[in-house]
Amino acid sequence: MKYSSLKNYIEGEFVEQDLETMEVLSPIDGNMISSVPLSGYDAVDKAVLSAKKAFHKWSSATIKERVQVFYRYKYLLEENIDELSELIQEENGKTLSEARAEVEKSIEVTEFACSLPQISAGEILEVSKGVECRIDRYPLGVVASITPFNFPNMVPNWTIPNAIVLGNAMILKPSEQVPLSANRIAELLKEAGLPDGVFNVVHGAREAVEAICDHPGIEAVSFVGSTKTAKAVYARGTSKLKRVLALGGAKNHLIVFPDANTDMTASNVAASMTGCAGQRCMAASAMVAVGPVDHIISKIVEEAKKIIPGKNLGAVISKQAKERIENYITEAEKGGAKVLLDGRNSRVEGKENGFYVGPTILDYVRPEMKIAKEEVFGPVLSIMRTGKIEDAIKIQNSSLYGNAASVFTQSGGVARYVIDNASAGMIGVNIGVPVPREPFSFGGWNESKFGTGDITGKSSIEFWTKLKKTTIKWNPESRTNWMS
Ligand code: NAD
Repeated sequence: MKYSSLKNYIEGEFVEQDLETMEVLSPIDGNMISSVPLSGYDAVDKAVLSAKKAFHKWSSATIKERVQVFYRYKYLLEENIDELSELIQEENGKTLSEARAEVEKSIEVTEFACSLPQISAGEILEVSKGVECRIDRYPLGVVASITPFNFPNMVPNWTIPNAIVLGNAMILKPSEQVPLSANRIAELLKEAGLPDGVFNVVHGAREAVEAICDHPGIEAVSFVGSTKTAKAVYARGTSKLKRVLALGGAKNHLIVFPDANTDMTASNVAASMTGCAGQRCMAASAMVAVGPVDHIISKIVEEAKKIIPGKNLGAVISKQAKERIENYITEAEKGGAKVLLDGRNSRVEGKENGFYVGPTILDYVRPEMKIAKEEVFGPVLSIMRTGKIEDAIKIQNSSLYGNAASVFTQSGGVARYVIDNASAGMIGVNIGVPVPREPFSFGGWNESKFGTGDITGKSSIEFWTKLKKTTIKWNPESRTNWMS
């Protein structure tokens, strides 16, 4: 085992707790690299106590003082980017350059958090003579962030810097499949000067998540993961009267028109469907080909053939994930889809026990097929053919999800029609992965998100704070008017 058994991080220390553990396997070669504790209510309770103790002092500091920690944290992310990327690659299986891009996004969201003193100021107005109303933002208290396997460093960092700069104390519950990055984040935050207890890590799976939803000491929960779990967390957390924002799964449609730039479209679609082995909630999963676009499809296949497992294509997270993805492909083929590129049974020399699926492109998929409707979460593109823009929109709109949709065309009118009519929270025009850059916020629609607001950007300020409205009068009564 390359790394020692992991521990929960509570009150600034990695603590020994008598807990059941689970193996952590590297998807690259299937080797066990560590083990992770499976916490329950007691461990969550200890983390809540630690965070509660730290909250008062942390929230009493000014935001300008609090943000100093995150200037240093940003620098530490930059300084340690090589090592952090290697750790991500080992536990998640993505390529080193994808892991690096993930840390770069963590740096960008930390930069945004560093701007919070500038943009989260309250409001004040003299509402009548001598009387002013003001709004101040207050942190919520102890908050929790529950994260998925596909971005072990970035998704935790969607929430940590913003929530903590705004004065909250946090408990992170990372995915039990990729728990190593979370402990490294804890070390870097400590090195950056974050007081003990302001940030805690509780490892585990369902039991830990349910304890977070139930614990009366936790005020708010952010969740990122599959729709099934997002729904369960949203329902359970809100039933305990917590503020919950739960981001779920996705099925993103790329709508491609014949006038689109062939090379650019092909390279964008191929990169979108295969990046992070298709395990991105923003990945191209379904392509709706409107009219005669065979020339673009051939080029997409040509581009996808250049993406080789173990070289520029990483592994999928587990053996079960590999089997699930391959089953989707087999079932679609049996149902009449034409396999243009087949990534099943991929083997990487020297890494025979790794979990690899090659790029797969299926043509003539029909909208009612399972592969057209469900989230596959692998490097698989399902192409559906249609003749009219209205039908393409109908296909997109029939999805239960609504994270992202993209249109590829040279026509402004066509693009505008898709922007207006696609039912998704994030839209791309000639962009395969339309992730908004900071300060624009991230979040989908429909069953890709439960709760109001988005998880990053200005929207996160609303989620992580509450408003206090104060009306003040200092003037002598004789000089007041009717509103005073
Ligand atoms: P997941 O739902 O299995 O797990 C997410 C978190 O929930 C983990 O911390 C896990 O321990 C916990 N969990 C798992 N099952 C649970 C249960 N039954 N009860 C309570 N907690 C449970 O998701 P995953 O497989 O880790 O991640 C992949 C999913 O995340 C995909 O669906 C992907 O689209 C989605 N995702 C969405 C976004 C977004 O922004 N919308 C971003 C990244 C990933």
